[in-house]
Amino acid sequence: MGRIELTPLIKPLTCRETTYIVCGARDAPIDAEQSKQLEAHLETCPFCRIAASQFATLFKHLDVLLVRDE
Ligand SMILES: [Zn+2]
Repeated sequence: MGRIELTPLIKPLTCRETTYIVCGARDAPIDAEQSKQLEAHLETCPFCRIAASQFATLFKHLDVLLVRDE
């Protein structure tokens, strides 16, 4: 017998949380655990992968438009 315990090292994120972190990461650095969770979700979720890359592009354009130095 034997009980299999599924204790994931990292808690899976929902798509909503992933989007939230991706957006939040623009203004404040995310911690190591969050970035691990984020990467784990992006690996399994093609939708968030596309969303994250579109956010990155969008933020780049925004930075140019707003002439942000940092
Ligand atoms: Zn997702």
